[in-house]
Amino acid sequence: MPRTGLLDFTKIRDAIHFQTVLDHYDLKPEKPGTKQVKINCPFHDDSTPSLSINLEKGIYNCFGCPAEGNVLDFIAEMEGFTENRIYQAAKYGLELIGEDPQDFRKDNHHP
Ligand SMILES: [Zn+2]
Repeated sequence: MPRTGLLDFTKIRDAIHFQTVLDHYDLKPEKPGTKQVKINCPFHDDSTPSLSINLEKGIYNCFGCPAEGNVLDFIAEMEGFTENRIYQAAKYGLELIGEDPQDFRKDNHHP
């Protein structure tokens, strides 16, 4: 059984770079190479790029629909996770970057 509370989601959020996630879903920024990028929103029918992502802060928000959040919210939305969505997104994201969830437990302290 997954023990949801023990994962350090902040640390996981920091470990998963938004660009890696965009590449994974083959989402191309309008103007790559900047820290603030725009893409066609995958969460609504979008003809002009209205989803803004701050790659540095790892957060996004859309000007055409209510979509907003951090990189884990983004994965959860993309994958349609509903139950334990952040936990599932964290596991998915760690798999994506080839990291072991064991290394991101709150009780696993790295000085
Ligand atoms: Zn949208």
